[in-house]
Amino acid sequence: MIVISGPSGAGKGTLISRVIPHFDDLAVSVSATTRNRRAGERDGIEYFFLSREEFVRRAEAGELLEWAVYGDNLYGTPALPVLAHLEAGRDVILEIELQGARQVMARKSDAMMVFIAPPSLGELEDRLRRRNTESEEAIESRMDHARDEMEELEHDALRESREFHYVIVNDDVDEATERLRSVIERIRENDPTR
Ligand code: 5GP
Repeated sequence: MIVISGPSGAGKGTLISRVIPHFDDLAVSVSATTRNRRAGERDGIEYFFLSREEFVRRAEAGELLEWAVYGDNLYGTPALPVLAHLEAGRDVILEIELQGARQVMARKSDAMMVFIAPPSLGELEDRLRRRNTESEEAIESRMDHARDEMEELEHDALRESREFHYVIVNDDVDEATERLRSVIERIRENDPTR
C-alpha cells in the first residue's frame, strides 16, 4: 500500500496520473466522498459520491479503511477494493489528506508514506485559484487545511517522527513526476512480498 498525501493543490492527482502508465500491477484506490461532483467527474471513477447518511453508515459499519472531515465534507477509503487489490498481488495507491494518512499508518505499519509538498503556500493558493474548481470559501478552507499540513512539515514534525518515507516538492512537474516514479520503483524493488 502506497499512501500519497499532502495539501490539496500540491499536485498529487496530476503526478499520480503521470506515473501510473509506467507500472503494471499498480491500482489507484477510488475514495468515497460527500462533496458535490465537479463537472466531468464520474461516479465510481474519480470518487464514489455518497450522501452523508450513506457515508456515515459505511464508516460506522467499518467499511472504510480511514476517513476524514475535510472542509464541510467527508472523504474515506473503501476497505474491500484495497484488500482485493493487495490479495491479487497489486500495489495500491491511496491519494488522501493527512488525517487519513495517519490512520492508515496506525493500522498498516508496512504502508509506504509519500508526502507531496507545494513549493510554497503562495504558489499553492495560486494553483487552487487557477484550477478554478472551488468557491472562494472552499479555497480558504483548503488553504487552512494546507497551512496545518505544511506547518507540521516545516516544523519537521513529520520528518522527525519518520511518518513519511519520502517527501517530494512539486516545483517542476516533470521533475516531480520523475521523482515519484523512481520512489515507487524503489518501494516495489524493496517489497519482500513481491
Ligand atoms: P478534492 O475535493 O480536491 O477531490 O479532495 C480534497 C482532499 O481530500 C484532497 O487533499 C484529497 O487528497 C483528499 N482525499 C481524497 N480522497 C480521500 C480519502 O479517501 N480519504 C482522505 N482522508 N482524504 C481524501
